[in-house]
Amino acid sequence: MAHRMTNSMRTCYLQACRTFIAVCCLLLFSSLVFADEQVKAVPAEYRSKNFLLTTDLDEEEAEALLTRLETMLRIVSRYWGAPSRKTIRLFVAEDLGRWPPGRLPPEGETAIRQGGITLARGMRYGRRFDFDAIVYSSAAGGTPQHEAVHAYCYQTFGETGPTWYAEGMAEMGNYWDENDPTVTCPDYIIEFLKRSPRPTVEEITVSDDVSGDGWRKYAWRWALCHFLANNTNYAERFRVLGSNYLSGGKPSFERTFETTLPELEFEFDFFLDHLERGFDVGQCSWDWSARFRELKEKPIAAKVQADRGWQSGAIRVIQGQRIAYRATGEWQLLKEELEPGESVCTADGLDDGSGKLVATIRTSTGLIKEFELGSKGVLEISESGDLYLRCREPWSLIRDNSGTVNVEFQASPPN
Ligand SMILES: [Zn+2]
Repeated sequence: MAHRMTNSMRTCYLQACRTFIAVCCLLLFSSLVFADEQVKAVPAEYRSKNFLLTTDLDEEEAEALLTRLETMLRIVSRYWGAPSRKTIRLFVAEDLGRWPPGRLPPEGETAIRQGGITLARGMRYGRRFDFDAIVYSSAAGGTPQHEAVHAYCYQTFGETGPTWYAEGMAEMGNYWDENDPTVTCPDYIIEFLKRSPRPTVEEITVSDDVSGDGWRKYAWRWALCHFLANNTNYAERFRVLGSNYLSGGKPSFERTFETTLPELEFEFDFFLDHLERGFDVGQCSWDWSARFRELKEKPIAAKVQADRGWQSGAIRVIQGQRIAYRATGEWQLLKEELEPGESVCTADGLDDGSGKLVATIRTSTGLIKEFELGSKGVLEISESGDLYLRCREPWSLIRDNSGTVNVEFQASPPN
């Protein structure tokens, strides 16, 4: 039962999050060796500022988990603008064979075998609410952080929002790194998202989905939430949409983004096309306010930053047109194998081809294959559309670049 409200005085929520496959063989193995290993027979309790953790992890691992949970909570509290109202109670099991019979309720034990669950019990009178949430989670991967996001939402807002939002944001909590806004999820998630048929944004945000429907659906929800929370074109509206969900409202996703849905879908596709660890959604946000003009007699200039994705080249090009260009200025690409001074270059780039000024054209059907410019030359335009420019480097590496190059375009006589 997920996100079901009743009119009874005592409202119960049950949220199943089966993000990990049960490790039954591990469990069997553990029970075989249990007789020889009585050292950690009883799970122990650990406390931090916002969490009370009962676990069979050893003390060092338990303290490390509490640190990760506190970090995650600091990030989500800042994001939603509300400190955690109550201590979050967690039962985290690495090996159920180490737990005495009856120490966990049957539903908690079953859920731990499948990943985790957050159970919330409490009351709601109109806008007032009081909920207590308990997490039962496997110690595997980031499941405790994922479940703790649900628990925080229940206790702080009395809501978690529709399934796609609740699970997408909980997966963000799973992968969130305080000092790194780039893609940090595991490789198997990235591989899955890149090789699978893509659902539409509308399909991801269907409101009648229920939790616990498999890690693949969770991966799509994470991708959409990560994209919307970090893209500068949509982040603020997405935050407001989320706050409305968490205050018990029923805002419409379509209506929230209806004026920019084609741009949003284009950028979400672009994100999935270039998805890799280290991809920075914020730095690669498209500037939809940029104006593109056809070249007449007067030259047109554009600025290109080394640490951004595709940026406006300011000109609308026409098939068959010849355009002379000249780029001035320098930028820097930090590289481990180079001294800082050796990584400064012009639009011609470094010896390995990185740092070169490159372009694409956004036509009526999408982006054409990237092509090289360098610091000067003449472009023979193969397709009509808007010209975009960037400093060439793998998408995961552009974040630490610096510097700007200025490019001037001038119409050139036909051959
Ligand atoms: Zn969940």
